[in-house]
Amino acid sequence: MEQRFGLKLGEIHVADRPRAWPLGLTLARAFVAPRIALAGDAAHGIHPIAGQGLNLGFKDVAALAEVVVEADRLGQDIGALDVLERYQQWRRFDTLQMGITTDVLNRLFSNDIGPLRAVRDVGLGLVERMPRLKDFFIRQASGLSGDTPKLLKGEAI
Ligand SMILES: Cc1cc2nc3c(=O)[nH]c(=O)nc-3n(C[C@H](O)[C@H](O)[C@H](O)COP(=O)(O)OP(=O)(O)OC[C@H]3O[C@@H](n4cnc5c(N)ncnc54)[C@H](O)[C@@H]3O)c2cc1C
Repeated sequence: MEQRFGLKLGEIHVADRPRAWPLGLTLARAFVAPRIALAGDAAHGIHPIAGQGLNLGFKDVAALAEVVVEADRLGQDIGALDVLERYQQWRRFDTLQMGITTDVLNRLFSNDIGPLRAVRDVGLGLVERMPRLKDFFIRQASGLSGDTPKLLKGEAI
């Protein structure tokens, strides 16, 4: 790591023995409870195949901030369950959708079964030949689909 990364942040020490965790899909049963809101990987863990974990976390934080600021403006208790449930409602479906998509992609690309390989190749070929479909996937991957929180669009809340 020192060879590749340099010593910009000081010498690198091994702090503990190496450990391994399986990559997979985890989704909290509830993102909220009274005065509690889970965001980022505390709420969901998805396979890093499409590089979307951090994006989901940013969306969570932006949505939560928007819900809290709006509730505060209306003079509501920002930690009340009905307020936090707006955040959960906003983020849960998007998260589930992304979790299932990355899980299916991972299963599809992490094996060498003949027919699946064929489906994979045909699918990739189709996306390459259909600009609108390709554009749809690019928008999904860049987090610009659906109800995007204001902060992610560069707007003030
Ligand atoms: C191999 C791999 C590749 C990935 N590649 C991508 C990618 O290309 N693009 C992408 O968008 N995402 C990627 N991700 C996912 C991304 O890394 C995570 O989604 C993101 O880091 C989650 O951010 P977070 O702040 O929610 O959680 P974390 O980054 O896990 O931060 C949580 C922090 O809380 C600290 N903490 C834990 N418990 C306590 C405690 N009790 N008290 C105080 N602090 C505590 C932890 O030490 C940690 O620093 C990848 C993940 C993996 C595993």
